Amino acid sequence: MSAHNTRPQAISDITNRIKLPAGDAPRPLSEIWACDVFDLRAMEEHLSKNAFKAMKKTVHTGAPLDAATADVVAAAMKDWALAKGVKFFSHIFYPMTNITAEKHDGFIVTNADGNAITEFTGSVLMKGEPDGSSFPNGSLRMTAAARGYTAWDPTSPVYIMRTANGSTLMIPSVFMSWTGEALDKKIPLLRSNAALDAAGRKVLALLGETDIAPLSASCGAEQEYFLVDAHFARARPDLLLSGRTLFGAPSPKGQEFDDHYFGAIPARVQVYMQAVEDKLYRLGIPAKTHHNEVAPGQFEIAPYYEGANVAADHQQLMMTIMKATALEHGFVCLLHEKPFAGINGSGKHVNWSVGNATQGNLLDPGRTPHQNVHFLLFCGAVIRGVHLFGPLLRAVIASASNDHRLGANEAPPAIMSVYLGDQLETVFGNIRDGKTSVSSEGGVMDLGLPQIAPFERDPGDRNRTSPFAFTGNRFEFRAVGSSQSVSGPLVAMNTILADSLSWVAGKLEAALQSGKNTAEAVATVLQEVMKAHGAVVFGGNGYSEEWHKAAVTERGLKNLPTSADALPALMDPAVIDLFQRTGVLSPVELRSRYDVYAEQYILSIGVEAKLVVELAKTSIYPAVMGYVSALTGTLNSAAALGVSFEPATLKVIADETNAMMAAVRALEEALPKHDFASTEEHMQYCATTLRQLMDRVRKHADALEAQVADEHWPLPKYREMLFIK
Ligand code: ADP
Ligand code: MG
Repeated sequence: MSAHNTRPQAISDITNRIKLPAGDAPRPLSEIWACDVFDLRAMEEHLSKNAFKAMKKTVHTGAPLDAATADVVAAAMKDWALAKGVKFFSHIFYPMTNITAEKHDGFIVTNADGNAITEFTGSVLMKGEPDGSSFPNGSLRMTAAARGYTAWDPTSPVYIMRTANGSTLMIPSVFMSWTGEALDKKIPLLRSNAALDAAGRKVLALLGETDIAPLSASCGAEQEYFLVDAHFARARPDLLLSGRTLFGAPSPKGQEFDDHYFGAIPARVQVYMQAVEDKLYRLGIPAKTHHNEVAPGQFEIAPYYEGANVAADHQQLMMTIMKATALEHGFVCLLHEKPFAGINGSGKHVNWSVGNATQGNLLDPGRTPHQNVHFLLFCGAVIRGVHLFGPLLRAVIASASNDHRLGANEAPPAIMSVYLGDQLETVFGNIRDGKTSVSSEGGVMDLGLPQIAPFERDPGDRNRTSPFAFTGNRFEFRAVGSSQSVSGPLVAMNTILADSLSWVAGKLEAALQSGKNTAEAVATVLQEVMKAHGAVVFGGNGYSEEWHKAAVTERGLKNLPTSADALPALMDPAVIDLFQRTGVLSPVELRSRYDVYAEQYILSIGVEAKLVVELAKTSIYPAVMGYVSALTGTLNSAAALGVSFEPATLKVIADETNAMMAAVRALEEALPKHDFASTEEHMQYCATTLRQLMDRVRKHADALEAQVADEHWPLPKYREMLFIK
């Protein structure tokens, strides 16, 4: 065994791991729920009546807050936080990458006598100024023009972030340039919600509604993730630097038995999950379900849905907490979309609906959807939007990591279609054909076992192969990647729906003016929608080869397998126009996003490619040579005794090693190329040339893993990382 082999050490450390403390005795939910959040409940307790009334209005309707009230709120917030042991505050914001950013400031100031006092004014609460020059901003700012502002978003509650190193009052904020352009993921989300609200109201008003509360999108995100023991992760530079294994032969046992899915949760993982959930509860994040996922070592957590803006902030916070808590429990939490080749990857199903306090969930079909004009128009508008802007939906989930998952027979294909379920497909099909329609009902599920109470069956089954599926009272965008912020997808969905609803409102208004009654007008508009856009509705197997052909040739849908193919959709004139007319992103803001995402894609693959070269040369090749040296030594000694062993093994190892090193050299030569005519060309180069060379190196390295004596192999193996807990 080589002196530097950390792999056996990792296994021994895990085996002899000191059992982690069981943790604090569980405290009742009522005691911890939202105890670290300055939410409306806390505000009512700590604010004057008038200040509370003003804040409540702001939170519920987005009405602006005056400076005097902000001062009162800031002072109360500070006292509340200080009483909980907090000394620092931070405006937390969401740059265009999928991370969160924060800069911490103390509440402390010194007065003229040199005494420390605490101070926190309304203006400090409302505005922060991080030196934003190092955040990716696309073409929006020159490096010299560094000024960026954060501004408090009072519609998402402030909270206390507790870590072993102290507690900080976190203030959810937007982030913009000195010239007022959005540099973050929150501004477009808030704008898209406003666009949705305005367009939705128009439609509802035309349908005769007079009392219409503000509309908002809701989001419930199901988060998949892997847990790997930290000892293994530390011995895998690829996991640490790129979040996925760049090498690794398949484990003899993988997920083929389906014995992990929904199985009993390993005890150590259960302790971790409870620790995560307790932290989430303190922060007012309604973690609701957890279970094992398909792959060994893979799990899922899903909070209950919330308004899109708060849900997006909570989602980011949840990912932060999942990662930090994993380390406390000796795990590394992998949010990468495909940490292990040949094993299911991780997604983040984004459940999305739109509604308000007066009309309720507008995507709820009820028992008789064919008569539910709210539902029909809103659902029809979604269908129209997905058909018109499928490539945009593909683009907002594009990343180097999600490319490994999409279309890989475990995750939705890269073709955007809509699944409605049998009942609704019939309803909308009848609308298209001008037939009057009755809704089939689900009927009652009666197993004939007296002890099992009969229950009502859903009117449609589920389709796991669809990227965009209707699931009862919401759409589920299933193609979103596990590491991604939900904001990008939510912005796209809100915006295309807002745009379609505006179109619907225009058509509806014209039909009503021409003397049609409401029912006739709705039928006319919906028929037009379904005739023009029904091609995007697909209920079959999205994994099948026939669909990949038919979608493109017969339905005219786009298949955009890689991010290099998909990201340019952001620069499509129709998409630029969409974002401009809805007021969600100006053309410069959109351009900057495209630049940032393209750069991230190119950088990600560049890092991985460099790591492939380094690991192959400095880790795998030396390990192989160590084994070869031991082997030849033994063979020579045996030969001296007149015994000879078959030479084939040595020959296979030599061939694979030489082939691997040839691929490494080709990759090394391919890496420095930089004279690209365009960003698109550069992305394609990464997607094809670099990725193929990386795969070639890996193929030979993985073949070597299957030949080299176990004790010589330096990198923790799949079977160990996936099964040793
Ligand atoms: P699954 O899809 O695996 O059956 P659940 O039924 O638990 O999972 O729901 C998944 C997510 O969808 C949860 O976060 C849930 O709160 C959310 N959800 C439920 N109803 C809605 C809705 N009307 N709008 C948005 N999200 C919703
Ligand atoms: Mg689901």
